[in-house]
Amino acid sequence: MYPSVSAEEIRSYLTSRYDFKRPMQLEEVAADAERMLRQWQVQVTHPRYFGLYNPSVTLSSVVADTLVATYNPQLASWRTSPAANEIERHTLAWFAGLFGLPADSAATFTSGGAEANLSAVVSALASAFPRYSDEGLHRLPERPAIYLSSEAHHSFDKIACMTGLGRSALRVVPVDSDLKMDPQQLVAKIANDRERGFVPLMVVGTAGTTAAGVIDPLPVLADICREKRMWFHVDAAWGGAAIVSPSLRRHLAGIESADSITCDAHKWLSVAMACGMFFCRHPEVVRKAFSTDAGYMPSSANPTTSDPYMTSVQWSRRFIGLKLFLSLAERGENGQATMIEHQARMGDLLRQSLTAAGWRVVNRTPLPVICFTRDGLDVPAFLQELKRQQIAWMSETSIAGTPVVRACITSFKTTADDIFDVVREITDLADEIDAQLETAPYEMN
Ligand SMILES: *Cc1c(COP(=O)(O)O)cnc(C)c1O
Repeated sequence: MYPSVSAEEIRSYLTSRYDFKRPMQLEEVAADAERMLRQWQVQVTHPRYFGLYNPSVTLSSVVADTLVATYNPQLASWRTSPAANEIERHTLAWFAGLFGLPADSAATFTSGGAEANLSAVVSALASAFPRYSDEGLHRLPERPAIYLSSEAHHSFDKIACMTGLGRSALRVVPVDSDLKMDPQQLVAKIANDRERGFVPLMVVGTAGTTAAGVIDPLPVLADICREKRMWFHVDAAWGGAAIVSPSLRRHLAGIESADSITCDAHKWLSVAMACGMFFCRHPEVVRKAFSTDAGYMPSSANPTTSDPYMTSVQWSRRFIGLKLFLSLAERGENGQATMIEHQARMGDLLRQSLTAAGWRVVNRTPLPVICFTRDGLDVPAFLQELKRQQIAWMSETSIAGTPVVRACITSFKTTADDIFDVVREITDLADEIDAQLETAPYEMN
């Protein structure tokens, strides 16, 4: 499941076999590529991959990507690919409805959460500053600021650079003991910026933080944004999938007030990468942010069939939405909810089993991300052995400055037996490492 291969090994293999001088049989090359993928990759679709938000994928999403590559629809314009455009629109409208957004909201598929978050910042700028789109940031009389918690996703660092805002425009709001954004600190930072002549532009609420799966207090953030006339963006790249579950969606309450939402289908909705979604309740703002005038593009000439290149970051674009459409249609909304709820239940089971085995769970969330440790645990040594013995794949993260183990249920194939076996095996492993430390404290490094 976890390859210990070096770059040199792969490079010399590729150099020895592939100088591209003689043609090869497709069957032969494809079989070799598949062998490399099996052997030299962390197997993220394995039921014991408790890793970052990389899911097991549904068969329907594999079928969809094959169909897409075969027909190669162009999603820049409507007129070239009416079927693909309307399938995406239909699928996005269903999700927009679940999120509680108005029916005429803008929505587009993106390469992922980073592009969706970028779309949100560009839209917020275009909305707050009518001159931004034409004249850029440097002509603005005041400097905009964006507020996000210390647990928010680091794509905003890159977005701040790309938009010209600069990283110094990001205000990192401290979190409370549950790792949620502290609204009082947020309000204090906004007031301080106003005094110093900054324009508080937007608040990013994260629904399912990357490290600990925590949901910021969305209703409170929504109220603050309404009162301060700021853009409210919810980055629900992973956690947004909970909206399909009648029992989990209450944890996303407040998302319906968002000006814009990021939700990745290629995370918890279990479709293949890349499949993100961007929603915005202000279609006219999105059009202002992304429209251009290209005489060579086929024109739909119909206001109800807008061209994606005029309302999104990408130009030539793959038919991203088919894999979500097929997965959803195949399972139905109940089936999709069952898939999400199963993983949430496996997360609960992991929490309970760890606690029963003497581990300490250090994060609080209803979503299946579990951060845990126990006294004296050498986290890097533990994770190294975990991978060497191929017990499971987990990662390290830091909670309030302390290194801990992070396990996320990201496969719909993970069973209760996987959880029980893994907890037993990792407890034995940690006991062994402890015993070694006691007998030979200076030999470990
Ligand atoms: C994964 C993630 C992102 C980035 O999304 P990509 O699909 O990797 O581009 C942004 N925000 C959060 C909260 C995430 O979990």
